[in-house]
Parts: sequence; C-alpha cells; structure tokens
Amino acid sequence: MAPPDDFVVTPYEVKGRIDYQRLREMFGTQDLTPELLARLHQVAGGDLPPLLSRGVYYSHRDLGLLLDQYQKGSPFFLYSGRGPSGPLHTSHLVSFDLCRWLQKTLGVSMYIQITDDEKFWARSGLTREQTAYWGMENLYDILALGFDPKRTHVFFDSKSIAALYPLAIRVARKIPYSTVKAVFGFEPSTNIGLVFYTALQTVPCFWPSWAEDRAVPCLIPCGIDQDPHFRVTRDIAESLGYPKPSLIHSQMLPGLLGENAMSTTGDREDNALFLNDSAATVDRKVRGAFTGGRATVEEQRRLGATPEICSVWALWRTRFAKDDQEFASVTRDCRSGALLCGECKGRVLERIHAFYATHAEARIKVQDWAESTIVTEAPKPI
Ligand code: SF4
Repeated sequence: MAPPDDFVVTPYEVKGRIDYQRLREMFGTQDLTPELLARLHQVAGGDLPPLLSRGVYYSHRDLGLLLDQYQKGSPFFLYSGRGPSGPLHTSHLVSFDLCRWLQKTLGVSMYIQITDDEKFWARSGLTREQTAYWGMENLYDILALGFDPKRTHVFFDSKSIAALYPLAIRVARKIPYSTVKAVFGFEPSTNIGLVFYTALQTVPCFWPSWAEDRAVPCLIPCGIDQDPHFRVTRDIAESLGYPKPSLIHSQMLPGLLGENAMSTTGDREDNALFLNDSAATVDRKVRGAFTGGRATVEEQRRLGATPEICSVWALWRTRFAKDDQEFASVTRDCRSGALLCGECKGRVLERIHAFYATHAEARIKVQDWAESTIVTEAPKPI
C-alpha cells in the first residue's frame, strides 16, 4: 500500500514537504511536458523565461487548447490578482513575471484584480483604509514589472464594483453554497462577504467575453495551491456561455526560514523578502536564510551542498541568475562544494540590490498612469 501523503496544500494552508508530482495527480491537472514547453517556445519565439525553463511552472489545465486557439487567430487574455493585506514579497511576483513576459512576447491583454474587499472580509485585523492603501501600493509594484499601460486593465474591487457587478449577479446564481463551503472550508461563522466574493473573483475570467460578445480565451498563471479557486470557475463557465479558463501552475517558492512556502502569516517576517524592505533588512534576511549547506566549510568542500532544499538557490532559480548557463553553474558548484554558502549569498545579494534599485525607479514612473488602468464602468447594461 502507498504511504499516506505527509503534506497538505489548499488555497489557505500549505504544510509538510510537498511532492509536487503527487500534488498534481491529486488535483487532476496536466503535466507541463517538454513538448508543450517547446510549443510555447515556438509560438513565442526567443528564449523561454527562467520560470519556464527552470521548471518553476510545472502543471497546467488546457494550455494546449489555448495555444491551438491562439495559433488559429484567437488571442487569449491573462488574468491574475492580489489580495492586498500588506507589502508584496518576491514570491508574489512569480505569476506577474510570467504574465509580463507573455504580454510582451505575444502582445496579449492583462487583467489584474486587486481584492481589497476580500482581504477586509478575510482579515479581521485589517481596516478598509489599510486594504485600500495596500491595494494601490501593490498595484504600483505589479505594474512596475513592465506591464503595457495600453493593454493592462485593473479591477480594483471597491472602485470597479459597477463594472463587475452586472456579471457577478449572473455568476453568483450559478454557484451553490455547498460548493464554496466544500472548496473553501467555510464555517457557519464565515462572514457573507467571503461567500459572495467567490462570484467576484470569477468575473474577470469572463469579463472580456461579456464585453466583446464573443468567446475570448483566458489564461491564469497561479500557484498550484490556488487551483481549487478556479475549478469552481471552470465548472460553471459553459453554463454561462463562456470558455473555461486555462491555467498554468507554479510550485511555491520556499521561505527564507526553510519553510516550503514564502508565507509570512503570523510572526514570520524574516521568511520573505518584501519589496519595501531596506537594503540592510534584505542583507540580514539573506545572510540568515536557510540553505542546503553543510555544518562546516571542510564538510561542504568535501561533500558538496544540496541546492534543492536551499532558499537561496530558489532565489537564483526564479529571478536572479541572469541566464540558464549561470543558473546551471551555481547549481553545479553548489553540488560539488566549489561554492560555499557565504560567497553564494554575497553574489545573490548584489543581484537583489540591483533589482530593488531598478524596481524603485520603475515604481515611481507607473504612478503617473496606474489609476488610468482601473476599470470603473460596465461595457453594457445588465
Ligand atoms: S552554495 Fe548557495 S545554493 Fe548551495 S546550499 Fe549554499 S547558499 Fe544554497
């Protein structure tokens, strides 16, 4: 008999050491095969971004179908979102980085949902002013990654409700309470805002089809832990006359404290690199980060280290190695013992500081146009 799984992954909880292939099988998603990646490479041209070439994205639903439609002349749009409970950290960028690359490479539209309502309903310690404030702060950080102002549209829930509500009404009627209770684990004490929020989160998947009166395919890059949200959306799509959204799933980035996700819930600020951390704080967090190194220099030189369990290696893997050759060389030198953790951390810190400096400049510039991307009107009457 197979041993029981010793991990738990839901939209709200990640526990244990995750077996990602097993998780994919449990969720019933498809493997992101080398053949499918080669096809994406062929469609996009140029090099694949690190998140694809280094296996961070590893699973999907109907990506092949989406590429079929794209190649037949039916471009898709991208959808991703953020629940603004505080500053963004680097692992939040994984879905937006892939969206930015797809938008730039294929010229597709991007829809971003900022769920300031949901975070107010979900976190009793947050005020409305705080979720609205973090919503705009997070939006600046997301847009600063390089999104095209002409092709980027934002549903900032509290400001965009007039645009979302006509479709939310129709979506809400299709989703029974028993479904959201089972998927999200709602309790009798759960506030009714969170129950209705399921409809609001679904709306952007269908909004362009509704606005344009034709089936516009949708691609959602997200962490595999978020897949259950969109199973509900896929289940009701065709009954409303809209295409099921396709998904591409990433693994979770390990936290700096050695946990298997960069979550900072509770008192775990040092588990993640926030985009508003000072240079000194970034230094302290990376210098203290969990690694796959050995107890002594002599042992590491002799036996080598284990990159796969190292939070610093995850930083190289997802963003900071400048190309696949450099990533391969860091991995090889780590494994052989030629590279020691102190030197490795110093090298990655140089890249992190350079990224923070460039990002800070871009973030100032997007503030001139960020507000103009927020959608405030429905495209047609109810
Ligand atoms: S050498 Fe670098 S990648 Fe390898 S275990 Fe140490 S910190 Fe991690």
